[in-house]
Amino acid sequence: MRTLSQIIAHALKDEDNRLLMASSPLVFMHLAALGVFFTGFSWVAVIALLITYVARVFALTAGFHRYFSHRSFKTSRFFQFVLAWVGTSSAQLGPMWWAANHRHHHQHSDKEEDIHSPVVRSAFWAHVGWILCRAYSSIQHDRVKDLSKYPELRFIDRFHILPVFSLIGLLYLVGAGLNYYFPGLGTSGPQLVMWGFFLSTVLVYHVTFCVNSVTHIIGKKRFETDDESRNSFWVAMLTFGEGWHNNHHRYPLSARQGMYWWEIDLTYYFLCGLEKLGLVWDLKHYPEKVYAEAKVGAKVKPH
Ligand SMILES: [Zn+2]
Ligand SMILES: [Zn+2]
Repeated sequence: MRTLSQIIAHALKDEDNRLLMASSPLVFMHLAALGVFFTGFSWVAVIALLITYVARVFALTAGFHRYFSHRSFKTSRFFQFVLAWVGTSSAQLGPMWWAANHRHHHQHSDKEEDIHSPVVRSAFWAHVGWILCRAYSSIQHDRVKDLSKYPELRFIDRFHILPVFSLIGLLYLVGAGLNYYFPGLGTSGPQLVMWGFFLSTVLVYHVTFCVNSVTHIIGKKRFETDDESRNSFWVAMLTFGEGWHNNHHRYPLSARQGMYWWEIDLTYYFLCGLEKLGLVWDLKHYPEKVYAEAKVGAKVKPH
């Protein structure tokens, strides 16, 4: 009889099985989110879902994307740690892994080397397929030397499961505590974990993945960038401003991705609030020449 390790070793030799094993955490997350049907409904659970969705989308857009990947504003070492910890609780690995892959995307956008181009490969690949590919599971350290000098960021990247478990633990304790002291609220530890972690994380996955898939296929192109990036109002709504992706590819350094008041960018408004509180500073903006280009582009190619 074969031992378990022999069976796993055999499975790993086969490409299809390798993909199956790599995809199992993602499949598990989706199946686990169905737990909301077994733990019941309460308004506390809905509030937990909203808080964990908003906090983590913001940590990913402002933190992982605009700060760690593009350094579009400055902050303290403490708040940098907070952004890294909350962002990593989204179960999308750590800030160094995330930023390294994203910098690679900007360098090779929609070219053969691009790791998640829906143009070169497929929308499914750009949305989720590349994440399941083991070739992209390790960190490209040479792309994130500015981040790897912080031991606390290296720690979070290495033990990326800790922020995930800390969120699950916190939700469980709050739910169990409310159930004990205020049973009339109809909540419980397992219910808050299902709504505030599993369902919320799956939603955060798909809105984040939409930036890689949808905004390189659907939307308007204001700038003639040498990629297929687009501006999409709906993705901008779901992702708190990340849908202004063509603007962003034209000038990735800007902390603001919408260019005008009607290009709603919640992440930027929130960053302005944090700037007033002194938590972040030196927000970078689109230079005048980019606004001038946008005007010319609008004249030549009316949308
Ligand atoms: Zn892009
Ligand atoms: Zn970017």
